[in-house]
Amino acid sequence: MPKILQQRAKCIGCNLCSEIWPLRWRVSRVDGKCTLVDGVEKKGIWQLVISADELSPNEQAAKACPVKIIKIVR
Ligand code: SF4
Repeated sequence: MPKILQQRAKCIGCNLCSEIWPLRWRVSRVDGKCTLVDGVEKKGIWQLVISADELSPNEQAAKACPVKIIKIVR
């Protein structure tokens, strides 16, 4: 199963990922950084295992991220 990894602390809150796939990415009103919905934080990296049908939009989000803090591991 694919896994999303996000270095949330480095997020600049540009909103691109949430425009591409709002089901999984949401900019927080509290700190202006993007939250990986249902993600779990381990040592500063937010992580979530996703199903194969969510792979494509999350790969698009990773590609669009200007600071390259979203990684998809297959
Ligand atoms: S695309 Fe990257 S920098 Fe922009 S809100 Fe999403 S995670 Fe943050």
